[in-house]
Amino acid sequence: MPMQKPLNNINERLILGISLQFLLLTMHSAKDYAQDIRIGLYPDYHISSLVFSVVQGTFDLIADDACLPEIQPGDIFFATIDGNKIHLSSRIKKIGYFSKIEVRHTGHESTFQLKSVSPILASADYDGDLILRTAGNYFQIVNDVDLEKYVAAVIEAEGGANAHPEYYKAQAILIRTYAIKNMYRHGADNYNLCSSVHCQAYKGKSLLNRQIYEATLQTSGMVLTDMSGKLITTPYHSNCGGLTCSAEIAWQTNHPCLVSIRDPFCASGKNHSWSEQIPLDKWTGYLRSKGASISGTYPGDYALENPGRVKLYTFKKTSIPMRKIRDDFDLKSAFFQIIYDNENHIVFKGRGFGHGVGLCQEGAMEMARVGYTYPDIIHFYFQNVLVVNYHEVMPQ
Ligand SMILES: [Zn+2]
Ligand SMILES: [Zn+2]
Repeated sequence: MPMQKPLNNINERLILGISLQFLLLTMHSAKDYAQDIRIGLYPDYHISSLVFSVVQGTFDLIADDACLPEIQPGDIFFATIDGNKIHLSSRIKKIGYFSKIEVRHTGHESTFQLKSVSPILASADYDGDLILRTAGNYFQIVNDVDLEKYVAAVIEAEGGANAHPEYYKAQAILIRTYAIKNMYRHGADNYNLCSSVHCQAYKGKSLLNRQIYEATLQTSGMVLTDMSGKLITTPYHSNCGGLTCSAEIAWQTNHPCLVSIRDPFCASGKNHSWSEQIPLDKWTGYLRSKGASISGTYPGDYALENPGRVKLYTFKKTSIPMRKIRDDFDLKSAFFQIIYDNENHIVFKGRGFGHGVGLCQEGAMEMARVGYTYPDIIHFYFQNVLVVNYHEVMPQ
């Protein structure tokens, strides 16, 4: 089923809710949840030359309005930006200059490979279709892919290649919810989401573990809503350090689904704790740069002991957001103590890796390993939520 046209202006964005309802209505009436999503690839690179080839299945190659002969496994094409056109050639001949190239799959299982030549980047395999357009002197590269295959690929890109299927099911629901909720994030770019961490990391077809895709299909169409049926923000992070962070502490947005909970499951995770030693003069220089007076201060005054999840570090009358200290010192989390070590150093003694909001991946993996199911995992990390199918979030 084709996607709805992306939204191009603010008025259209304002009717997002209505559009989503239409999307859900059309999906429900189709009696399945097959849905494509358009992903903008390599948004952080200026790609001017690339190679694509068929790995599996057959594709139609459409150059502007012309449909060229069907292409098959082993066929390779070279595309380069030349002026404001795409110069396309095969291994044996020049094909021509075009504004838009579409590589549309014609079979059920079809895989193509894409490799950027300028700049040189690693190749990756993709499910679905490839659409190339010009954007100034560079390509705009879009992968039109089945939503469930996209979800499986993001699970793989976000880590956890050897986890239990119940973990993959929980993760699939979060990733799918994000994708649907943010379907219009790149509307102005003519695609839905990008492949970088700006949206969700997507590195092409899920290849490592067939269980990931199977778990994704077993939760096909399932999303997470609040009690009123509204899709929620579904953050996740590597390890919470034993105590997740509320959205209120992390982002100053109160959210009844994203409150702090104690998590005993991630204690043996590799990202549960960390420490970082900082020279004392670097720390005092930092405090001075924030306006703090340090004259007459005993170094032990810098200490911050067992603070829990707090927003601010306060030294005398100067307060600095913990999140800001995390960014400035490139720390793994904003959940740390400050220990006075000796006259030369202080130590950040921290717990967890990531923002700490929502699902703790290492804790969720452990829950799945010891026998909890995906609803158990979801309801442990998210409060006041419902796991529903798309059609259930439609108004009655
Ligand atoms: Zn993005
Ligand atoms: Zn945790």
